Amino acid sequence: MKNPLRLSPEPVDATIESAAAHAEDISNAFRDLQIVLPADAVVRRDEPMARRTTLRVGGPADLYVEPGSENALASTLEIAHLRGLPVFLLGRGSNLLVRDGGIRGIVVSLAHPRFSKVEISDGRITAGAGARLKGIAHEARRAGIGGLEFFEGIPGSLGGALRMNAGAMGSWTFDAVDRLRCMSRSGEILDLPACEVPVEYRSCPLLATHIALGAVLRGRPDDADAIRARMEQFSNKRWTSQPSQPSAGCTFKNPLPTLPAGRLIDELGLKGTRVGDAMVSDVHGNFFVNLGQATAADMLGLIEAVRTRAREARGVELETEVEIVGEDA
Ligand SMILES: Cc1cc2nc3c(=O)[nH]c(=O)nc-3n(C[C@H](O)[C@H](O)[C@H](O)COP(=O)(O)OP(=O)(O)OC[C@H]3O[C@@H](n4cnc5c(N)ncnc54)[C@H](O)[C@@H]3O)c2cc1C
Repeated sequence: MKNPLRLSPEPVDATIESAAAHAEDISNAFRDLQIVLPADAVVRRDEPMARRTTLRVGGPADLYVEPGSENALASTLEIAHLRGLPVFLLGRGSNLLVRDGGIRGIVVSLAHPRFSKVEISDGRITAGAGARLKGIAHEARRAGIGGLEFFEGIPGSLGGALRMNAGAMGSWTFDAVDRLRCMSRSGEILDLPACEVPVEYRSCPLLATHIALGAVLRGRPDDADAIRARMEQFSNKRWTSQPSQPSAGCTFKNPLPTLPAGRLIDELGLKGTRVGDAMVSDVHGNFFVNLGQATAADMLGLIEAVRTRAREARGVELETEVEIVGEDA
């Protein structure tokens, strides 16, 4: 006779089996990566994402890889494909909310120095995807190239800024892009003029499927002191209008050009609202800050509370600008 308490044993067994199969794929991929990638690559297991995001929350990535060349990146993609593992590109983690269970598969970062070079010749800046935006802004200033001052206060890498078409102070990233170099998920390299790359507000859709390797950036000749003055002006504006606690920048996209999400949240009286150690900043309503011990679950709870309030009080559907990735704990 059937045991009446064991109504559906199969799904539990299936879950255990698939977890074991996944663990085996990870072990095999880890071994493959160690064998195939040159010694200058970083390959780690169970890398905590809280350490690699500005919000300081999130569980571990199964595998974390910093390839040291385009060939090593292509090999990483091939191994991921052979082992059936997803690949997630990580920049400086300044627009990410990683859930507490972490990220399954391989997290690839182009933080290796070979992907972070910034070279200037004939008024053109060639920068790798791993280069920090702040570094690019300062190199451009030193070379007397204006127009990239808005990069100064965005705490991301060029790769993340290209994917997000990050913008500030009336400019966005693709205003300054001349050419984009990227790699398909099958390792093919494309070198495209910017006019052939469609972009929109806070997104370059091509880079949802391709990996940005770098770009040629353009500005206009300008006096280094004038550039410095504009950078200081932008920087002062940030210091007085943005919180200093860990955050991922603006949580929501502006629902309308005439309705900034921060103003809406302020008008709803939600500044200072808390879920655990996650709080709507009292300086800027669209920045959600980590007061120290926040979990991703706290952050997600706060996001949902604010979205619900905006919907009920004003009929506005808020869409996150912060990208939410990974699995629940
Ligand atoms: C204090 C603060 C202020 C901020 N101010 C601004 C601002 O003024 N304007 C603004 O637009 N943003 C702002 N941000 C958000 C963030 O800095 C930008 O979106 C930035 O461009 C993200 O870059 P990242 O390298 O950190 O990317 P990540 O956050 O690591 O990743 C963002 C996305 O880019 C993808 N990605 C990363 N690298 C690559 C690559 N090489 N190829 C393809 N995809 C890739 C990731 O998979 C992910 O989808 C701010 C954030 C903070 C914390």
